[in-house]
Amino acid sequence: MGSGSSVFISKLRDDTAARPKRWLYLLYDQLNLELNPWKDEPTESTGIVLIESLSKGKSRPYHKQKLGLILANMRSFALEAQRKGHPVRYIGTTSDYSQALLKLNIPLIHCLKPAELTTRKELQSLLDSGRLRQHPHTGWLTPRDWFVEELGLNPPYRMDKFYKRFRKETGILMDGKAPTGGKYSFDSENRMSWKGQPIAPEDPRFEVTDLDREVEELVNSTFSDNPGKIDLSKAPTNDTQALEALDFAMLQLPNFGPYEDAMSIHSKGLFHSRLASLVNIHRIMPAHLLKSVLRTPAPINSTEGFVRQLIWREYVKHVHDITNGFESISVNRTSTDIRDAMWYRGDYTDSSSDVTQHPNHLTQENNLPISYWTSDSGLNCLDTVVNSVIEDGWTHHIPRLMVLGNIASLLDVNPRQLTDWFHAAFIDAYDWVVEPNVLGMGTFALGESMMTKPYVSGAAYINRMSDYCKGCQYDPKKNCPITNLYWDFISRHSESFIGNHRMSIPMRNSLRRDEDKKNIDRQTFEAWTRRLCKST
Ligand code: SF4
Repeated sequence: MGSGSSVFISKLRDDTAARPKRWLYLLYDQLNLELNPWKDEPTESTGIVLIESLSKGKSRPYHKQKLGLILANMRSFALEAQRKGHPVRYIGTTSDYSQALLKLNIPLIHCLKPAELTTRKELQSLLDSGRLRQHPHTGWLTPRDWFVEELGLNPPYRMDKFYKRFRKETGILMDGKAPTGGKYSFDSENRMSWKGQPIAPEDPRFEVTDLDREVEELVNSTFSDNPGKIDLSKAPTNDTQALEALDFAMLQLPNFGPYEDAMSIHSKGLFHSRLASLVNIHRIMPAHLLKSVLRTPAPINSTEGFVRQLIWREYVKHVHDITNGFESISVNRTSTDIRDAMWYRGDYTDSSSDVTQHPNHLTQENNLPISYWTSDSGLNCLDTVVNSVIEDGWTHHIPRLMVLGNIASLLDVNPRQLTDWFHAAFIDAYDWVVEPNVLGMGTFALGESMMTKPYVSGAAYINRMSDYCKGCQYDPKKNCPITNLYWDFISRHSESFIGNHRMSIPMRNSLRRDEDKKNIDRQTFEAWTRRLCKST
């Protein structure tokens, strides 16, 4: 470990001479000792290897808060593992994980199947050579077989069947053979806007430890050009704080369901759990979270909505895994040279940049607006949400889908560029989750492989579900450009929607629109793409 680590090193026991029965390499997103395949054996028999890789940190323009969250959790996890009796080898490297593992000179290291495709690819040569032996990753709620048996290996992949299989197989939220409350989904009851009541909680805060402060300094010096700010008082960084975050989330659960889709300038998180960043690095195991949700007294629409989100997470992971990052899906593709998420300060070496053809069903080729980093589009909904992302590296799923994804889709932004932006900017983004969410749902880049239709809307939806329009220079009922952009999107891509019955009503309405309005729609699209998507 180099500079920026003296506090951590002073707390870390030197286990270089330790000779446990085996060494287990845990990745940055496998920070839970429950994942140890030998957890029933004495702890001293399994040494833990953890690696901080500068080259991984520099592969994308990651938000400073994301880098901080991962580094601080890795370091505290190392100390927790030592306290529990595991020998720990904690490596800092400027190179990648494979080279760091090779340098350890341990003849055989064990590992768990990586969730990220990029990491699976990177470790493959060590697995092939026998230096690394892979074990199943037990930090998921559903086996791949359930997915394949319900949905098969080829698209379309519809979440509903997989979700029902989970419910039936586990008996969770089931009364015998029937779903609790008489239906599998309470989505229709979870679409309330929020008018200030019930009172939304303050954002959760956590004690900043000396380890956290050191990580903040390290990130600010090593990644000074990266976007965003680091403030670890906003992020749980150790096992105690992870439990505090879980308690916070469970307190919000009763109100989570009804206001799940609401957005407000007065509360970024409303009643959302904000736990994805912890669950995705397994600081909180999905099984533990599921048990907590089922134990918490909350109306069925809240409990069911939360459980469905947990299973959505499993579903996207299976889709990504089974298609090898959509490689096996037959869909229009385009090549995309720009992989820096439109963040121009720095040189980024994305390890998947050997892949040049990316899903792009609608052949959308405009550049991501710089406003996705600078929040100066003049569209209050977009600027409000972007501000929140720059500040926290987070916003909940509806602003992601119905503002960030929606507006990018309406502007024909290249879906790969948008995905790269989400990947860099969000504290909970990893390839297995961000790629299906953005390419499959937030945009229509995968066609009907996951969703039956694109998630696009005009101003009416944003006005109904948020208070963003009140502070906007545009009027959602009179002159909001998003509505014209919506109609032009439908008209522009109409050939791609032929035969899609879920698009028949918007298509019919689009055809009925008079020529003057259609001209204005087209001019609005041209003006706004010129204004926001200009090339660099
Ligand atoms: Fe967004 Fe239009 Fe509402 Fe302004 S009026 S906040 S641009 S939807």
